[in-house]
Amino acid sequence: MAIFPIRTFGDPVLRARAERVHQIDESIRRLAADMLETMYDAPGVGLAAPQIGVAKQVVVFDAGDGPEILINPELVETGGEWSFDEGCLSVPGHFWPITRPAFARVRGIDLEGRDVEHAGEELLGRVLQHEVDHLKGMLLIERLDRKLRKQALRELRQEALGFGASE
Ligand code: ZN
Repeated sequence: MAIFPIRTFGDPVLRARAERVHQIDESIRRLAADMLETMYDAPGVGLAAPQIGVAKQVVVFDAGDGPEILINPELVETGGEWSFDEGCLSVPGHFWPITRPAFARVRGIDLEGRDVEHAGEELLGRVLQHEVDHLKGMLLIERLDRKLRKQALRELRQEALGFGASE
C-alpha cells in the first residue's frame, strides 16, 4: 500500500468523468487499498480515485462506521435538505456552507463484485453525494450559490498565484 499525493483544484483529472470499472483485478484492489491509506493519512472521511489521479469509478469512505469501498456508485435516492460546512481534500483549507439532500442512497459493487448499497443521513449522506460528484468531474465549488462561488474562485485563484497561506 502507498500514500499518494492528493490532486488539488486546477488539476484536469478532477474535471474528468471517471470511467466505469469493468473488471475487478489486482490493480483495482491495490488502488482501493492505496486510496484508503491516503484518505486516513490526510485525514479525510472520503476519497474518489480521480483525487489521486486515476479517472476510474472507485470511491472509499469512512463516515465513522469503518472503511468502505464502493465501485461504480450510482445515486439512486435522495431526500430532505441539510446545510453543512463542506470541505474537500482537493480544495484544502476551505469549508463552505452547502445545502444538499440530507439523505442519500447509493448503489454499486464491492471489491468482490457483489451488489452493495449504502444509505445514510447527514455526514454519511453528504460523503456519498460528494464522492459521486467527484466521479462526474464535479467539485464542491459547483454546488455553491453564484455569489459564494465567485468569491471562492477568486480566493482559489489568488492562492494559485501564491497569495494564499496554503501550498
Ligand atoms: Zn472532495
